[in-house]
Amino acid sequence: PAPATDDTKVSPMMQQYLEIKAANPGLLLFYRMGDFYEIFFEDAELASRSLGIVLTKRGKHQGMDIPMCGVPVVRADEYLHRLIALGIRVAVCEQMEDPAEAKKRGSKSVVRRDVVRVVTPGTLTEDNLLDARANNYLMAIARAKGGDRIGLAWIDISTAEFIVTECATGELGATLARINPNEVIVTDALYSDPDLSQLLRELSAVTPLTRDVFDTATAERRLCDYFAVATMDGLSAMSRLEATAAAACVTYVERTQIGKRIPLSPPTREAVGTTMAIDPATRANLELTRTLGGERRGSLLDAIDCTVTAAGSRLLAQRLAAPLTDAAGIARRHDAVAAFVADSGLRDDLRSALKVAPDMSRALARLLVGRGGPRDLVCIRDGVMAADQVLDRLSAVENLPAEIAAAMAGLRRPSRELAATFARALDDELPLMKRDGGFVREGFEPVLDETRNLRDASRLVVASMQARYAEDTGVKALKIRHNNVLGYFVEVTAQHGDRLMQAPLNATFIHRQTLAGQVRFTTSELGEIEAKIANAGDRALGLELEIFERLAAMVADDSDDLYAASHAFAQLDVATALAKLAVDDNYVRPEVDESLLFAIEGGRHPVVEQALRRDGQPFIANASDLSPGPGQKSGQIWLITGPNMAGKSTFLRQNALIALLAQIGSFVPASRARIGIVDRLFSRVGAADDLARGRSTFMVEMVETAVILNQATERALVILDEIGRGTATFDGLSIAWAAIEHLHESNRCRALFATHYHELTQLSAKLPRLFNATVRVKEWHGDVVFLHEVLPGSADRSYGIQVAKLAGLPPAVITRAKAVLAKLEAQDRGQGAKGLIDDLPLFAITSRAPEEERPPSEADLLMEAVKALHPDEMSPREALDALYALKAKL
Ligand code: ADP
Repeated sequence: PAPATDDTKVSPMMQQYLEIKAANPGLLLFYRMGDFYEIFFEDAELASRSLGIVLTKRGKHQGMDIPMCGVPVVRADEYLHRLIALGIRVAVCEQMEDPAEAKKRGSKSVVRRDVVRVVTPGTLTEDNLLDARANNYLMAIARAKGGDRIGLAWIDISTAEFIVTECATGELGATLARINPNEVIVTDALYSDPDLSQLLRELSAVTPLTRDVFDTATAERRLCDYFAVATMDGLSAMSRLEATAAAACVTYVERTQIGKRIPLSPPTREAVGTTMAIDPATRANLELTRTLGGERRGSLLDAIDCTVTAAGSRLLAQRLAAPLTDAAGIARRHDAVAAFVADSGLRDDLRSALKVAPDMSRALARLLVGRGGPRDLVCIRDGVMAADQVLDRLSAVENLPAEIAAAMAGLRRPSRELAATFARALDDELPLMKRDGGFVREGFEPVLDETRNLRDASRLVVASMQARYAEDTGVKALKIRHNNVLGYFVEVTAQHGDRLMQAPLNATFIHRQTLAGQVRFTTSELGEIEAKIANAGDRALGLELEIFERLAAMVADDSDDLYAASHAFAQLDVATALAKLAVDDNYVRPEVDESLLFAIEGGRHPVVEQALRRDGQPFIANASDLSPGPGQKSGQIWLITGPNMAGKSTFLRQNALIALLAQIGSFVPASRARIGIVDRLFSRVGAADDLARGRSTFMVEMVETAVILNQATERALVILDEIGRGTATFDGLSIAWAAIEHLHESNRCRALFATHYHELTQLSAKLPRLFNATVRVKEWHGDVVFLHEVLPGSADRSYGIQVAKLAGLPPAVITRAKAVLAKLEAQDRGQGAKGLIDDLPLFAITSRAPEEERPPSEADLLMEAVKALHPDEMSPREALDALYALKAKL
């Protein structure tokens, strides 16, 4: 081997960097150097590309330049946020000692550094990295070898929630859609399992981990260690798979938070079958929390969210994701809403008290892991005061509904001492970081006040020194300034510099720096006072930090009560917010029971109604009734026909949303609603090509329809919109026909089925629980007017051409289409229903229709005339004449 040259030697710092890098595979390394995090090699290239920051070089490694870029420590959060959004996980490596310490060990010695934290999407606590209105879940997925069961555990370390459950492999998609985790951890093996890879690839962040994290044998011990208990009996009862997933979560938290003990509540087990099952497609189609375009605005959640706190907003989102299926639980929530509907004074008082109650759980989590700041303390102070207020207000109320009484029980009055101490300790204006100091109020701690006075008095001394020096030197413009490099210094303009550098003044003024226009000096007196100021400043900061820790410790002592209070706030917020919604939007309390009823009177679509109201338009309320008829054991199917744009989809969705709202415990947009518990909601509404998964619209539609026909049971509610549309007419009609028969005979579920195949309405003669309904329209001077009224019966025609005209298709195309339609209808009368539908796409029919058999329309004649022209052979004069002739034909 060639002798080592300077180029191939690795500097001690690079040596350290490479070791730390090697110990943290798969992570982008932020390597602390003074005021910057430096990023090297491929990491630097990735960061530069992802963050748009400049890529530079620093030294050489094995003869090659080392690519580097840097992120200022003060702006690190902002960059972390962007990296995390891109699914890049970051290891933050800090200096673990003062550089001066390292120097003492020898000139070659490097500062000790260590990774103190791994920042991943599922393990954040910082406010500016989190969405206040959404939970931030980390989820672990565990599967036994060869088994079909899956253990799931998910935590939100910013609020301490910890939940476990088990499901069948086939239900994993639905569960993931419900929880919507920000990061999922799995074993390497599961990650590459062909059954799951598709599902996992669609998630925003999946982190494959080594097997030991998911080791079943050690799971129990790891959980016990984390919660510092001797046995799992004290924790909740969990299956082995659940415990494995739960242990994976805590191990991952330990590994990413290095040395910080994140507070988590003991895992609670989510009981199976207590929530309405909603598959991912249905969630997306019904636009529960996001529109199909991916926005919160326009979603159901956005329309119903009147909460005043972030924690309330998160709880509402959780409830919307998991509607209940037990009538008693639902009724309890309705009771609470009803109480606040009835008592508007109580509702308004509580809402204004809650409005100032801040997001305590997240502040708590940060304080408990030592990442909190002065504002988190204030947040606790305000929360405690709000708790007092809320308790006072509620204690005056008699006969609280059970749900509210339960929330109240959680709202133990947090210690008054804490509130009083915090009120005295914290200043009105607060810095973001505790290390900036200045957050402790004057008068709280005499020693601190004294130290601060000393610091400020010394500053005054500096000011008086400036006057004295000006006098002594005769330089009026002499200034005493301060910067981080020189500390305090005397500054004069260049023309006076010489004077201070000569005897006798040079005995006092020691030259430090000459700039273009100024000369700078220090004096020993200035040095002394500077040391005093710095000492006093450091002491003051040190005292403040001690006070901070004392206050944080008080928070830690009370943390159980504070978490409980924050949870109670969220519950009260949701109940009062739903009451406000009910009052503002005129919702009623639904009657929910174990029957198979589904009878809605005056039902409305919660989102469309709000949108129309903003435009000053009324929403037309509509009834539906899928309840079993007299002598029938199962619910009914409504088959809805009507032209496009008549309001079929709106009607279908509004019924699904009313059921959903009723079962999350909300009132509903209707004048009366009777609903027998829906245990599973299916909806197939419209479809966009799922090109990312390489499936056509038709394939997507059939896959989703298959799920429904295979899984819907008597208690399900099924919404099917226009199935069979994506294929040739006969195929589509046949599939829709067979699907209805299957729903009626085999699934026997309550269903709403919208279609443009009028032929299907004949089925009601054969199927006793099939009911035909139509959305009414009126024809007015050849145009169609939508009345949005749903009535018994079937549509007489489709009005497709009128709708096309409204949409602005060229008049020539409309005229031609009418002619084709007339022809087809004439043919149809000759041949019965069958002749109407050709197995060919309609466009082919148009172009193949034999010329001589139909009366030529105006558009046809024009077209013929234009076709007959040959512009290349015409003189300008002839062309102009031809144009006039064409115009005359109109
Ligand atoms: P379809 O599914 O029959 O094509 P949509 O349900 O998409 O029709 O409704 C078309 C538009 O008609 C909606 O965007 C909405 O603005 C309006 N609309 C639907 N239902 C109603 C109603 N009940 N009252 C008022 N406007 C409605």
